[in-house]
Amino acid sequence: MKITFFGSSHGVPEPNRSCSCALLEVSERKYLIDIGMDPVPELIRRGMTPKDITAVFITHAHGDHTNGLVPFADICSWYFKEADPLIFVPELRIVDALKSWTKITCGGLRESLRFREVHEGALYDDGTVQVTALATRHTENAYAYMIRAEGKRVLFTGDMKGGDGPTADFARFVTEDGIDLAVAECAHFDAMQYLEPLRAHPPKRLCINHYSRRYLESCCRLKSTVEPDIPTLLATDGLEIRL
Ligand SMILES: [Zn+2]
Repeated sequence: MKITFFGSSHGVPEPNRSCSCALLEVSERKYLIDIGMDPVPELIRRGMTPKDITAVFITHAHGDHTNGLVPFADICSWYFKEADPLIFVPELRIVDALKSWTKITCGGLRESLRFREVHEGALYDDGTVQVTALATRHTENAYAYMIRAEGKRVLFTGDMKGGDGPTADFARFVTEDGIDLAVAECAHFDAMQYLEPLRAHPPKRLCINHYSRRYLESCCRLKSTVEPDIPTLLATDGLEIRL
């Protein structure tokens, strides 16, 4: 399994970081987690196209996690007509917005594009990847994803509630030791708030993602505190993690 971060920034792009989007590859299958930037140029740069994407999992409706859905759905409607990704959106009214946009720009949203609304619990299983959605308190319809594939477990936290997200939301998601990778946001609180839940149920690896500049120093402090027990990376665009 390989995870490539296309976009690792917080709500605002940084000079070298775009908004949230990650490519998950398991054997021959490819998936996107969040789509806060246009993923198509990144796919094409790597010799892929939207036709290669099996499913898209969006954590919540904020623009830094969804804005890339507009160009993605647009080009899947008029050019990559054989692309058949199953697109999980936190709210189906996103599809209405896409219909309006594509009606103006490219003649309409392709009828055969498949959308599903995310619900809490077991969400997806294609025999290669199993995805469970876990509600966070970031917004009304916001989710983390626990992904199981090839005998491994990877958590994407999505966004959590400011202030006590790590102690409340994160502690609920990670209830057993040894998940293989936790991809944890740090746009809404000091990273040191992860310390207690990380110590309660340490993952094998930690990747701090979606971190804002104001919490960067705390991210570095968390990394130096939990290592070497929990090897920790700060995500940057283009970072690849193999599990
Ligand atoms: Zn958000």
